[in-house]
Amino acid sequence: MKAHDGIYLDGAWRPALSRDLIDVVDPVDEQVIARVPAAGPDDVDAAVRAARTALPGWAATAPAERAARLTALRDALAARQEEIAETVTAELGSPIGFSRAVHAAVPIAVAGSYAELAASHGFEETVGNSTVLHEPIGVVAAITPWNYPLHQIVAKAAPALAAGCTIVVKPAEDTPLVAQLFAEAAHEAGLPAGVLNLVTGRGPVAGQALAEHPGVDLVSFTGSTAVGRVIGATAGAAVKKVALELGGKSANVILPSADLARAVNVGVANVMSNSGQTCSAWTRMLVHRDRYDEAVELARTAAAKYGDRIGPLVNAKQQARVLGYIEKGVAEGARLVAGSTEPPRERGYFVSPTVLADVTPEMTVAQEEIFGPVLSVLRYDDEEDALRIANGTVYGLAGAVWAGDEAEAVAFARRMDTGQVDINGGRFNPLAPFGGYKQSGVGRELGAHGLTEYLQTKSLQF
Ligand code: ADP
Repeated sequence: MKAHDGIYLDGAWRPALSRDLIDVVDPVDEQVIARVPAAGPDDVDAAVRAARTALPGWAATAPAERAARLTALRDALAARQEEIAETVTAELGSPIGFSRAVHAAVPIAVAGSYAELAASHGFEETVGNSTVLHEPIGVVAAITPWNYPLHQIVAKAAPALAAGCTIVVKPAEDTPLVAQLFAEAAHEAGLPAGVLNLVTGRGPVAGQALAEHPGVDLVSFTGSTAVGRVIGATAGAAVKKVALELGGKSANVILPSADLARAVNVGVANVMSNSGQTCSAWTRMLVHRDRYDEAVELARTAAAKYGDRIGPLVNAKQQARVLGYIEKGVAEGARLVAGSTEPPRERGYFVSPTVLADVTPEMTVAQEEIFGPVLSVLRYDDEEDALRIANGTVYGLAGAVWAGDEAEAVAFARRMDTGQVDINGGRFNPLAPFGGYKQSGVGRELGAHGLTEYLQTKSLQF
């Protein structure tokens, strides 16, 4: 697989000062497909300095010019759509159809949305005798995970660029290749040197150096709650703004009046998509006790259909972790109705689509994020019980409610402690604010709300 052997710094690919390399592995056959630099603190420092130097010029550009560059970025990504899909399939293992439809298409749409927002957003407003200026916050550090590797980068870089910020991206170790394609597209789009920099590297080395760097004004992190906590604490100590997109354990609440078959089928698809490596996945299905057995049977049948249609997990560590959770679920009394505690193939980091029934709210598999193709099905007695269970985790990222009547579903959704709720299978909206209540995070991404994260206000009084 094609890879750059340098880091993208100040408008060019340059050799890293660090000699360390990261092996990129295809999770389907466990073969090394490329090597990229594992940058060290000196490389990170050089990238932050390039971003700082580029900041005054970029921050002063007219919004229309930033919109034009973002349009060019969108077009450069669109021109690489097939290469993006093939690259994500190679390093993440997702089936090519899913890579095309989601991993490649969604970031193109998000980049396009910020090209429009850069042009239309009000960067100035009048409040009484004040003019309020919405100014870029400065140098942004974007630390991203591997699960939707290009989407996670674009969801940070596009609004940061639209706002007038400059940026250093540190992508996940497992998926640096599509990040390199992104830097190529940014170069082609004519971004001035230093406005966007890409440093591939390891989390505890390059990631930490970037999060701690005094030249960074805002750290935007997506990943595990454990690392997010550390980054939040570091940023807090430095009085630096931080945005965190962390874990989830979202509830799919099926009210008694719902179309059960549709709710269960869409719910299972939601969990199995991307092999369950989705922070907003509805990993807890809540069903009324009178319809519980029927729902479990529907879920079992639906999961069986996914048999060999889902890709592997990203690496051996994730595979072992997910299989460990399935074992723990069974040990704590859950009933394995689909899937297995064993890997389905000898080679590749696969886990079978798994459904655990008779899950009760205090079980580990009902509380902790598993990040694999594992659905827990829980029983509730009445609506109040369903609400208690739905809100009964430390997370609050997403969710779903199904009911015969839309108003009934909305009334329930209003009482959920979570950042997004899909009503009766509502579609993903790339302009809707995405982000968590409680320990699922701080801040919002996407759309106008995502843009304002990268702005700070200055008030002029007249
Ligand atoms: P996941 O479990 O999804 O891999 P991580 O939180 O480990 O989530 O990783 C998300 C991103 O955070 C990756 O880019 C990773 O390299 C980075 N990272 C991991 N540890 C640290 C750290 N101590 N400081 C900064 N970044 C880190």
